[in-house]
Order: sequence, then structure tokens, then C-alpha cells
Amino acid sequence: MIDANKILLIKDRMRIEDVVGAFFDLKKSGIEYTCLCPFHDDRHFGSFKISPRKNIAKCFSCGWHGDPVKFLMDYLNIDYPDAIRWLGKKYSIDVDMEDKHFTPPPPRPLPPPLPMLTLPLQWVQRRHRGIECNTLVKWICTGIRWDAAQRAHIDEVLDEYYIGHNQRTGMTIFWQIDEEQRVRTGKMMLYRPDGHRDREARYGFDWIHSALFRDKRHPEYDAEKVEARPTLFGMHLLSKYPKADVHIVESEKTALLMAIAYGNRANEFWMACGGLEMLSAERLKPIIDQGRRIILYPDCDGVAKWKAKAENLRYTRVAVNTDPVLKWWLPEDGEKADIADVVVRMINSHPIPKTVTNYISKDP
Ligand SMILES: [Zn+2]
Repeated sequence: MIDANKILLIKDRMRIEDVVGAFFDLKKSGIEYTCLCPFHDDRHFGSFKISPRKNIAKCFSCGWHGDPVKFLMDYLNIDYPDAIRWLGKKYSIDVDMEDKHFTPPPPRPLPPPLPMLTLPLQWVQRRHRGIECNTLVKWICTGIRWDAAQRAHIDEVLDEYYIGHNQRTGMTIFWQIDEEQRVRTGKMMLYRPDGHRDREARYGFDWIHSALFRDKRHPEYDAEKVEARPTLFGMHLLSKYPKADVHIVESEKTALLMAIAYGNRANEFWMACGGLEMLSAERLKPIIDQGRRIILYPDCDGVAKWKAKAENLRYTRVAVNTDPVLKWWLPEDGEKADIADVVVRMINSHPIPKTVTNYISKDP
């Protein structure tokens, strides 16, 4: 048994940057640090953030987040008492020795939240500059055998989601605009000519807010003064489709393909969460508050985790649809196929059913 007071003392002393820094070289990024995420196959800096201010780390890609204790438990695969012992050693506190005269320190107050970063709407509206040389857009236009009706949707869908293009790096920009049409940030990813992510490139992944915080030419965007709060890709469409069910896939690319294949309509439209972390009651609040039906579409490797997340929401109008990865999937798609791979194979071998609702086997 470890003395509860010793645990309090350790929790007061422990610093996330010390703990993650004991295993990885940290890069300073504004007031935060970053390193490659140890919890997913991460090849680019930028997703895994270590915040000394909040004393936590979190990954914007795979959704892992936690304090120093959770980091040690998950990274070293040890239990809670051993994580406390690890920290005791680090901070020279003998956790297994009793100390009758010991008084625990008062809990450290949480810093007040910083105001939310919002970006000018004009940035989003300038999106078309250079869009014709964007690899993802090129692949969508020329690499898929859409039928005439689907093809007619392409421009409309690219407009609807404000798909942008970074001229310097060639990355596609997926703006994250909230339900009140505030531009919160954007995710930038580089694609290969075959429509898959380019994970080897130097500029393969970035966030608009991280790039701004790093860029000394924009002193008004300062990580010490504002905080980026990501939202789901497509959240801004809630007001355009006030009565629609919300279909949520993981990747932004898949959301685009589904919207082109089936069209965003009065009764259904597509969003992407980008990662498990975004499937929380807090992030989905605008949708839940409106009492909308939510249908989640996990990729092959996420079925159990997404079901657990859906359960945790404690919301009656949410369902998980595994048809794309269980019923539509064929061995030729490969074990690692995601929904986009399956759907593109189906589109390429016409015809596909006229509406996605035909596919949905369960009515939540
Ligand atoms: Zn991660």
C-alpha cells in the first residue's frame, strides 16, 4: 500500500515534460513540446502535444491523452502503484516508507482556460487558389470511375467543405469550421497521386494552428494567448441541413468520397472525426443538443473501440454501422483497407446502390 499523502506529493511534483522527456527527445513548439506519438505509428512531428501548462500530453491523431501517471502505465505497460513508484524514484520520494509527520501539499490550481483561436473566414474562402494542382483533388476528379450523377457532385462537395490547398507544401487543407461558422483550425495532409496519404514526405501532416504558432511573422497567433480547439470536419453543415442525420467516418477523405457518392442531403450528410478522441460527448455536443441521429462508421481496426465510445456517450440516438468494413469488405480489398478503399472499389465496379440508406441495416 502506498501512502495516500505520498501519492498527493508525487502528483504535485510530477511534470509531463520530465516523464515523456525521460523516453523521447522533445521538440519545443511554442509553450508546448512535441515528439512522435508512442501510441500509434507516427512518422511526423505535430500530432503528439505535451502541455506543461496543463501537465498532460495528447495525440491529435490517435486520441491518446493523459497525465504523467497514465503515460507511464500505458507506455511501460505497468500498473498504477508501479507508475507511482517510478515517479517516486524520479523525484526522490520514497513511496514505500511511511512518514507520520508528513503533510500533503495543497492541490495545484488548474490554469484558467485560454480564449479559443478563431481564424478569418476569408482564409477559407480563398481556397480555390491552386486547387487544380492538389493531388487529392486530382485523384478524386480523375482516379475514380464516378457515374455522371456522382461526377456532377464533385465541385459542389469540394465547395461545401471548403477544401483548400497549401501551395508551398502541396498539402490538402481540411478546414475545421464549427456549428456557428467559426473557423477553428485546419488539418493539412499530403496525398500521393493514388489518393493515399504520403506518410514519407517531410511535409506530410500539419495543423494550421501549429504552423501559425511556429511562424514568427504572425505574432498575433501566440500559443500563450489563444488555444486551438479542434472540431469535427463538416460541423459547419449542421445549419445547412437542419434536419439531417449525421454520418461520421474517421477520415476526412472518406467523408468527401461518401458525400460525392451519395450527396449531402436534407436527411443525411457526412462528417469526419479524424480520430477517436473527437467521439466524446463534449466534441459531439452541438449534434447531441439538437437531438440528431448519429451513425458512426469505424474502419476495420476500430470497430471495438468505436462501439465502446458510442456506449460512453450515453446518448440514445447513436448507432455504429459496421457494414462498410464487415459486409461490403472483400478479401481483394486487403486486411488494412479502410472505408475509402472499400467504397472506391465499389464505385469503380458499377453500379452501387442509389442511396446510402439502402446500406444501413440497423435503424438506431
Ligand atoms: Zn497517437
